[in-house]
Amino acid sequence: MTRSLADSKPARAVIAMTAEQRAALPRRTAFVFTGRPAVDLAMTGGDDWLSVWEVLHAPADLDRWLAEGALAVPGTRADADDLRAARALRRAVTAAVDALLGERLPQRGAIEAIDAAAAVAPLVPHVDPRTGARGWARPTARAALSDVARDALELIADRAQWERLRICASDDCGIVFYDASRPGRRRWCSTERCGDRNRARSYRARRRSG
Ligand SMILES: [Zn+2]
Repeated sequence: MTRSLADSKPARAVIAMTAEQRAALPRRTAFVFTGRPAVDLAMTGGDDWLSVWEVLHAPADLDRWLAEGALAVPGTRADADDLRAARALRRAVTAAVDALLGERLPQRGAIEAIDAAAAVAPLVPHVDPRTGARGWARPTARAALSDVARDALELIADRAQWERLRICASDDCGIVFYDASRPGRRRWCSTERCGDRNRARSYRARRRSG
């Protein structure tokens, strides 16, 4: 089976739009987190047709994305260079995820860009001795992006993980996620975002036809 980011129905619709139609789409602000940092970064927008999904508009958006995402890194203070680095890493990770979805090895340029981001020192774990709360010692956006890049390399290195990449089954979603469930039969990017909505929809459809 061939799968790619452009295979989902929303992606096909966007690709067919004119530049004016794309520009008229509402600006996105909401992040979607499905639990895997590298895959979640690829879902924050991108170049060309992917730019309609853009949620990293300014450095502060990157700070918020890092704080709210799977790595839970509050307190970074990203600047314009960090945002550029995040977008460069995203470009490479997106190309890699697209290749893995089609069960192909990512191109060398993508791997090199991910390696470059991973070469930065990663986040340093920290535990508060009074509360036992886990966190990061003086986290920076660049260190967090190194962890995102390392997550991408883990994914690329393990073919069993490629088969866990899914495109959300909802017709109007198109989010790519990593299925970490034991049986590996997850269909929706998240229960709240698409699962409940689609189950309710198919329930109504069954009632109408039955
Ligand atoms: Zn979805």
